[in-house]
Amino acid sequence: MSTENQDIHILVVDDERDIRDGCERILGRRGYKVSKAENGEEAVDLVDKSPFAIVLLDLKMPGMDGLEVLGRIRDSHPDTMVIVITGFATVETAIEAMKRGAYDFIPKPFKPDQLRIVVDRAIERKRLSDEARRLETERQRTLKDLHLEQSRTRTVIRALPDGVIVTTPDAHVALMNPACMRLLSLPEDFQPGEHVCHYIKEEGFCTLVTRASRGEVPEGQTSFTYEFSTEGDKYLRTDSTTIRSDTGECLGAVTVVIDITGLMVLDRLKSEFVAKVSHELRSPLSTIHEQLAMVLAKLTDEAPAEQRHLLSRAREKTQGLITMIGDLLDLSRIESGLVTKDRRPVDVAATLTGVVEFLRSKAEGKGQTLTLTLPEQGLPPVSADPQSLEIVFGNLITNAIHYTGEKGRIEVDATRRENQVRVAVQDNGFGIEKRHHEKIFERFYRVKDDNTRYITGTGLGLPIVKGIVEDLGGTLELVSAPGEGSTFTVVLPVSS
Ligand code: ADP
Repeated sequence: MSTENQDIHILVVDDERDIRDGCERILGRRGYKVSKAENGEEAVDLVDKSPFAIVLLDLKMPGMDGLEVLGRIRDSHPDTMVIVITGFATVETAIEAMKRGAYDFIPKPFKPDQLRIVVDRAIERKRLSDEARRLETERQRTLKDLHLEQSRTRTVIRALPDGVIVTTPDAHVALMNPACMRLLSLPEDFQPGEHVCHYIKEEGFCTLVTRASRGEVPEGQTSFTYEFSTEGDKYLRTDSTTIRSDTGECLGAVTVVIDITGLMVLDRLKSEFVAKVSHELRSPLSTIHEQLAMVLAKLTDEAPAEQRHLLSRAREKTQGLITMIGDLLDLSRIESGLVTKDRRPVDVAATLTGVVEFLRSKAEGKGQTLTLTLPEQGLPPVSADPQSLEIVFGNLITNAIHYTGEKGRIEVDATRRENQVRVAVQDNGFGIEKRHHEKIFERFYRVKDDNTRYITGTGLGLPIVKGIVEDLGGTLELVSAPGEGSTFTVVLPVSS
């Protein structure tokens, strides 16, 4: 006996007892669960109590006739399949029953096999339609979940206070949230779909978004960062990150746009404050410094050594403070663009010669050799404020002298490469560990180890150098390792 049919409940409705019992026997053997009703009223009662998969329904019965029972079942249980049992004389009625939703019919008298075939076919059909319905429900649910997920993500992106732009691999805008449109002052009827350059006329920004969308963010870097100011006087910082599929395929980029106007204002206020305080401190400090010199000079030979020592230390300290104030003022001049404002073609070779000669005695004081190599064919002029270049090379060579031991070697080498002038300041001094390479360009950062512990400084020299070089459109490169010396290379564009 088949067990897969045991959950299938079939109702046989016929006023002839033999037919009812015959059907029960035949179908019971196939494992179906069979109930019986001898008239329409009883059938409707049973169907209302518990649903049946199939109802075998005699059309011609006394009392409530088959067609009416069919109508009731179709109304209350549309999933129930009704197979009508009909005598030859009622074929017309069978056709009418089919029109009203009966699934099949079986003429009387029928053989057991005929009944089995008709019922099995109906059951198979029912299984298929149940399965189709289940799949459809599942599909609807998946679609609903997907839609919900999408609309949730969209709502979150729309609600973000920062701007978000999603671009395809060819840098066409797929999505831009309202915050971004506001930050970029785009019209309200904005339509996505065009290349990012169509909406935002900032060349540097467009180039980086295009590169991030193509997946060109270099290894070891997570995104491209870019800062620019808008016509509406906003300062924006953007971060473009490539999006990749699980298999690593580039799907485009997400760019986050942040309004940093407030930060810039704060930064400017801070710089102004530092500049003001430094300025105020400079003259009294210089006076104290000079007065200490006078007191020192007037000390008689009999004065205690300790007094002389204390006064000398005080003078060293005031010198340190004066240097720091000078550096802070330099930095604020760089930040306000003053250092590179007064630009003219500068002869780099002459500047280098002057700085090297000025610092030669300092190097020789430590027994170091300081050499300058210039190309025979000379160097093309660089557009800069001459004093700013002196600050740059002066700082780098002074550092080389400070951070190289006695009898060390410092080589300044200037070359021309295409449209650039490259000046390398190389020493065979202490060198710098890789982990400090970026940090030493931050303000007040100083490496503290056994070599540098007793060397005084402000930690402002390299930030000043970097600020000036970048303002001149150049770059600063560093190659260094502990014990192997350091090479700082300034790359400046030739003036056009
Ligand atoms: P300062 O020299 O006043 O400390 P800088 O900003 O000029 O400040 O330099 C920051 C730090 O970088 C220094 O404290 C030093 O540790 C390191 N540094 C700079 N130049 C060299 C160099 N040529 N060799 C080794 N270390 C250096």
